[in-house]
Amino acid sequence: PAPLSAAMVAQPQAGSDERFAHSVGEHFEAFLENYSSEVPEGMDTSAADEPAPRDYIDQCNEMKSNERNTLYVDFSHVQDHNTELADAIEADFHYLEPFLRQALKNLMKREHEEYATDDKDFWVCFFNMPTQLNIRDLKTAKIARLMSFAGTVTRTSEVRPELIEGVFMCETCGTNSDPVPQQFKYTQPVKCKNPSCPNTSLWALRTGPGEAKFVDWQRVRVQENASEIPAGSMPRTLDVILRGEQVERAKAGDKCIFTGTLIVIPDVRQISGLPGERLPPRRGGGR
Ligand SMILES: [Zn+2]
Repeated sequence: PAPLSAAMVAQPQAGSDERFAHSVGEHFEAFLENYSSEVPEGMDTSAADEPAPRDYIDQCNEMKSNERNTLYVDFSHVQDHNTELADAIEADFHYLEPFLRQALKNLMKREHEEYATDDKDFWVCFFNMPTQLNIRDLKTAKIARLMSFAGTVTRTSEVRPELIEGVFMCETCGTNSDPVPQQFKYTQPVKCKNPSCPNTSLWALRTGPGEAKFVDWQRVRVQENASEIPAGSMPRTLDVILRGEQVERAKAGDKCIFTGTLIVIPDVRQISGLPGERLPPRRGGGR
């Protein structure tokens, strides 16, 4: 792919440009495909007897053999490989995350076509960020950035299925909608896609294969580590939403480092609850 322009990375608004996001996705895919922590960046190894091991190709192979869908990326590897790429991901993670997932899916499709079927989603988790904040440091300025903080888990919710994308049937004419991504609340189509149908409000969620996509969802409450609470202050807490294979990895009492992004959740709980809270708790191991 063409080099990322440093000027674009430096502009906070650049992330709203979809072309830029696609370019970030291409660079991330190249990183996953080529990165080797055993070979210094830029060294030509084409004459070597054995090809250098590639960290993320190896991990893709493990994902397939263990039937997992999450890739864990050491952020210092991204910085080592391409500083502009690392800066872009860090500055605009919330917007770029779907493009990073798509990059991983493209790679999985090339490496393991029979495993990476169209209905399967893959997830990217980062760790080893250069700075680690504590809960008291988290300010609104860091919203949508990739960051990490440390804390102690005090409470965990049940694991529930969260609707992340749904197809809706028009109850007036029976036409199915295109998949509607769900954003913090139950989101239905704006208008029926049948041009001669006036329906804007009567919908039924389709639940057939490929029509509704769910992911495991869990909320955990995290409190400042005791050592970080200033003398005489009350400990601060933060709710963290965990998805997919991250659920049930932390239990009350665990000291953890969380890596992700801060978002402001619109106050829609009065109306409809958070997406993951709309559906009954998952029972047993399956969905
Ligand atoms: Zn209709």
